Amino acid sequence: MSEKTIFKRIIDQEIPADILYEDDLCLAFRDISPQAPTHVLVIPKKEIVSVATIADEDQALIGHLYLVIRNIAKQLELDNGYRVVVNCGTEGGQAVDHLHFHLLAGRQLTWPPG
Ligand code: AMP
Repeated sequence: MSEKTIFKRIIDQEIPADILYEDDLCLAFRDISPQAPTHVLVIPKKEIVSVATIADEDQALIGHLYLVIRNIAKQLELDNGYRVVVNCGTEGGQAVDHLHFHLLAGRQLTWPPG
């Protein structure tokens, strides 16, 4: 069996995280190395490696994650806007092989990304 990812270890409560929200399907916690004043990660509890391996049956789950992101943004009063980023694969800059949505806010974000 392959090794657990760091995010699976957070889900399994083997390592701590600054958790903002949790339900049966997902977990949201603060990024350990924030790239903006607000940097939250939203992850499914289901072990999905990346966008590339989302299954058709995950459609409702992915929609749920976006509603959770919307709710967190509202709760954190990110009224000036925010960015949701999903890195996928090596050239996409993905470091952790467990699907995660970055919620970034609190400063003017630039485009294009690096
Ligand atoms: P990515 O590069 O898209 O795979 O993003 C992985 C993110 O996970 C990075 O922003 C890391 O700072 C973050 N990260 C890694 N380990 C932890 C941890 N133990 N707790 C919270 N965030 C983490």
